[in-house]
Amino acid sequence: MKPSLRAQAVAPMELAGLQRLARSGSLDIALGIPPGDPPAAVVDAAVSALRQGRHQYADTSGLPELRAVIAADALRTHGVVVDPDTEITVTVGATEALLTSLLAVTDPGDEVLLLEPYFELYPGVVELTGAVPRFVRLRAPDWRLTEDALTGALSPRTRAVVLNTPHNPTGRVFDAEELDLVMNVCQEQGIVCITDEVYDCTVFDGRRHLSPLAMPRARSNSVIVGSLSKKMQMTGWRIGYCIADPEMTTVLRRIHEHTTVGTNHPLQYGASALQASDVLDGRLLFQEQRDELVAGLSALGFTVSPPEGGWFVFAGTEALGWSARALSRRLAESAGVLVAPGSPFFQRQEDSDRWIRTTFVRGAETTRKALDRMAAFLAAEDPPSR
Ligand code: PMP
Repeated sequence: MKPSLRAQAVAPMELAGLQRLARSGSLDIALGIPPGDPPAAVVDAAVSALRQGRHQYADTSGLPELRAVIAADALRTHGVVVDPDTEITVTVGATEALLTSLLAVTDPGDEVLLLEPYFELYPGVVELTGAVPRFVRLRAPDWRLTEDALTGALSPRTRAVVLNTPHNPTGRVFDAEELDLVMNVCQEQGIVCITDEVYDCTVFDGRRHLSPLAMPRARSNSVIVGSLSKKMQMTGWRIGYCIADPEMTTVLRRIHEHTTVGTNHPLQYGASALQASDVLDGRLLFQEQRDELVAGLSALGFTVSPPEGGWFVFAGTEALGWSARALSRRLAESAGVLVAPGSPFFQRQEDSDRWIRTTFVRGAETTRKALDRMAAFLAAEDPPSR
């Protein structure tokens, strides 16, 4: 059987393959797996949903009780009232929310702007819709979004921009000036802003997470993509959502019905028992660990800008004389430490081999041990001559 061109355009997920490299006893500081589990009461509610016979389709837009939980979270996070009946769609993770949003606003051949570096999934999801990714370059060390980079990537076929804030992998939390820039361009060009805010629970140094949701002028051309995966520590439950104005929500719900019919019923019921106090407070939980990882990597000779939010530290390997690919392979094979090479986050070859992505969310002890193993490895092994 000959696969479709769009299937051929989708590369295997390198980060998923990473775990296979791990030896037993490896320390994984590559993947953003939450440190804990959702509360027992929420698990009990999911189990009782099964016992009570909630085995059939739910409301395809998402259980009303769960949409109310998501609306309450939006109010807490942004001070914005969202109508759960007309503005929220529950999806199979942020991943389906992205696909559904892109299908809702692009036709084949349309262009979608992605900030580069990007979360590994994005180019493939855009390709699956038949649209074409165009890249807006963020530059180290501050990874700021500039007007030149954004407007330089526009074309008459541009239909959407995907803005991920807090940003994976750089840790940027885009500020008011950058958000204004995106909104101005979206309004002038009549394009849609899709913001991926799955790390909205983790912003450091007293910063605030900003979203188009809280910008009245942006509501009519933005789709907010969110997820319970990280903030409720339930990546395996596969529950995400889109927030958009009622008109766009009608479209999103139609597509959602055609892609998945709906998210699984018993787990939605369980998640409806979530309370405000269950939201992971990344600032409280991770600030110290972030500081420790940043300091540790800097001391080892990596080039590091402290992340403003999110779960990752993006570290440059050039000053060490190592290519990111060789270093991440040798660390996995020889030191028992998994870090993500930069290649999944860039399409530009010259950038992709200069960065590794590490996370501080796997616990203070894991961070410390991983840094010790990396120090011992770097002291013992020279980079291969290029
Ligand atoms: N967006 C970003 C930026 C992510 O880092 C991730 C998960 N690592 C996702 C989306 C996917 O989230 P979900 O589990 O809700 O599909």
